[in-house]
Amino acid sequence: MVTKELKDRLALLCDDCSIEIFVDENMVMLKDELWTEISDKHEDSYCDCCIEKRMGRQIEVDDFKSISGMDMTGTGLIPCNAFWLYYKRPEEFLKLKNKL
Ligand SMILES: [Zn+2]
Repeated sequence: MVTKELKDRLALLCDDCSIEIFVDENMVMLKDELWTEISDKHEDSYCDCCIEKRMGRQIEVDDFKSISGMDMTGTGLIPCNAFWLYYKRPEEFLKLKNKL
C-alpha cells in the first residue's frame, strides 16, 4: 500500500538534477533568507549537491534553518539537518553533540 507519507517522499525530487531527495541522505533545510537567495521559487527542492552549486560553496552548519523544539538528536539541529551532518560530516556532528 502506498501511504500518503510514501507518496510525498516519492514526489521529492531535486528541481535541478532530478535526483530523489532523502531525508537521511541529501536533504538539508536552509535558513529562509539563504533559501530565498538561491532558489528560483520558494517551494522548489534541491539536493545538497545542487544547493552547494547554487551557493558556490560548501554548506555550513550556520546555514541550517533552526526550529526550536524539534531537536531529537542532541545537536540543536532539526532532524533532517542533523542526519545530513551525521552522514556527510561526522566530525562536525560529534563536535556539536559534545558541545551541548
Ligand atoms: Zn540536485
